[in-house]
Amino acid sequence: MQIGFIGLGNMGAPMARNLAAAGHAVSGFDLAGIVVDGVAPAASAAAAAAGREAVVTMLPDGDILRAVYAEIVPAGAAGAVFVDCSTVDVESARAVAAAVRAAGRLAVDAPVSGGTAGAAAGTLTFMAGGPPEAFAAARPLFDVMGARAVHCGGAGAGQAAKICNNLILGVTMAGVCEAFALAGKLGLDAHSLYDVVSTSSGACWSVTTYCPVPGVGPTSPADHGYRPGFAAELMLKDLALSQQAAEAVDAATPIGDATTRLYRTLLAAGGRGRDFSALLPWLTQRGR
Ligand code: NAD
Repeated sequence: MQIGFIGLGNMGAPMARNLAAAGHAVSGFDLAGIVVDGVAPAASAAAAAAGREAVVTMLPDGDILRAVYAEIVPAGAAGAVFVDCSTVDVESARAVAAAVRAAGRLAVDAPVSGGTAGAAAGTLTFMAGGPPEAFAAARPLFDVMGARAVHCGGAGAGQAAKICNNLILGVTMAGVCEAFALAGKLGLDAHSLYDVVSTSSGACWSVTTYCPVPGVGPTSPADHGYRPGFAAELMLKDLALSQQAAEAVDAATPIGDATTRLYRTLLAAGGRGRDFSALLPWLTQRGR
């Protein structure tokens, strides 16, 4: 396929590289002038999208996405599919999808899970929202860049799934870190707590796959000085998006709200650039 790719950062660059390596003709643009092996550099976002059958975006936030879509939607070929893989607010996802639809093209919001390692390995999970024909048109791209694509519903459903998943992740990680910090102060050995919890009703991904305690459970960022992994600022971004969405539809999310405030405090206290599981050493140093 002829593909335009806009946003060649930590995630976008390896995703575009995988599309090119699979034999697609990819032209790419990033405001920072990033050049990627196998991807033809374009002079602007509109030039990257011009006449392409598919246009993929991997951008920082909803405002940037809206600005880029204002440029690229008129440039895409008739019948082109626009695939936005950024994590953005549900309103922006729905607004750009409506603009694409109005121009007679196909749109799918398809945020990802799997991080930079998944992007490099081509094993991302895509959570997609849009009409079935848009999902079908984007499917060959998902197959190259990822291991799994779930069609979650209409426009915005992918973003909704992403922020709900990461709301669960933030909340469970906060609970797990609290429990291990408390255990330490109670004189309970972390290995013993891990052995119990990992096979009991408290088991969850934050314990069994990504245990925040160094030297306990499978290898995780805790074993590498809390180098990300999934950075605390990205977790805060996703939690904040979940709270923005909850406010928009008047949904009660008291634990999500508390967890968002917790991560905001962690980042203000120097958590930037560290993994989101670095909540544990920060909590351990604190009292009530
Ligand atoms: P990044 O900051 O490394 O990349 C974003 C890129 O967009 C940058 O290179 C920037 O120069 C470019 N950009 C900004 N404005 C632009 C414009 N107007 N035109 C063209 N390019 C522009 O971020 P990332 O880590 O690659 O994340 C991208 C998206 O993926 C974000 O929405 C993020 O929340 C999401 N995400 C990231 C991860 C992760 O682990 N990094 C995991 C899942 C989802």
